[in-house]
Amino acid sequence: MSKLVIVGTVAFDAIETPFGKTDKILGGAATYIGLAASQFNVEGAIVSIVGGDFPKEYIDMLAAKGMDVTGLEVVKDGKTFFWSGKYHNDMNSRDTLATELNVLADFNPKVPNAYTRAEVVMLGNLHPLVQLGVIDQMVNPKLVVLDTMNFWMDNTLKELMQVIARVDVITINDEEARQLSGEYSLVNAAKKIMEMGPKFVVIKKGEHGALLFHKDEMFYAPALPLAEVFDPTGAGDTFAGGFSGYLAKTEDYSYENMKNAIIYGAALASFCVEKFGTERMLQLTNKQVHKRLQQFKSLTQFDIELT
Ligand code: AMP
Repeated sequence: MSKLVIVGTVAFDAIETPFGKTDKILGGAATYIGLAASQFNVEGAIVSIVGGDFPKEYIDMLAAKGMDVTGLEVVKDGKTFFWSGKYHNDMNSRDTLATELNVLADFNPKVPNAYTRAEVVMLGNLHPLVQLGVIDQMVNPKLVVLDTMNFWMDNTLKELMQVIARVDVITINDEEARQLSGEYSLVNAAKKIMEMGPKFVVIKKGEHGALLFHKDEMFYAPALPLAEVFDPTGAGDTFAGGFSGYLAKTEDYSYENMKNAIIYGAALASFCVEKFGTERMLQLTNKQVHKRLQQFKSLTQFDIELT
């Protein structure tokens, strides 16, 4: 099993959905990625930063999930990254109400020595210069996966393009793929994005699943239709954690195996949205994941006679 380096925000989130509202709860891209990847028992390290206001029990929880937290810097007199968002009634779109970088504004990531030779790097949502800083510390990684969002496209596009040029896989949502490529068709958007660097493009479509593109091929992973969706926050990161965690576990970075990886990502994301914040991911068992993978299989398997 190969090691996995995870970089991303470890955050406080305040979330509002049609079902309720939370005050500053645990969130952040690296948190969700780490919780998803912990399902595979991979050796993972979280590289991030928090302030002195961040409860130690959250850090202990990540460590208890098997994450190496020596690269999680704590700035005693600083404040933790804060994000607040409000979902529309369809739960597929949201408005960002606040993004306060706080300690993230001057973060110099430090990959723990034991992880600089990790095979898989998961660059979760964060400032592109921090993502670049992590790539620069890695020695011959086999797979670098990038997740990003419109916030960084709007504010730091030049730096983001430098990261995109250096990664193997990019995962973004449909609107961001359109924004980045200037193409409405997702097929054309993926083509344009592949020209920017990545050999594989994953486009997440929320409750409509995810598409994997490579050269002229494409593969579709559905999202499981759920009776109850409480809070989609972190679904994209959970997807990325499932994707990268599965690949780190299997050590097979082929297009064929990435198909399984996006199914795993979609299955884990389907749990994340069932409760507010990280709550559902914290209780998740291996048995529940296997049962859901079976549901994914029966959702799309059919036996058609071609005449
Ligand atoms: P997702 O719903 O998968 O897009 O991820 C939501 C998580 O990303 C929340 O827990 C936030 O703390 C975090 N987040 C929101 N905006 C940003 C940003 N601009 N950069 C990094 N992380 C962010």
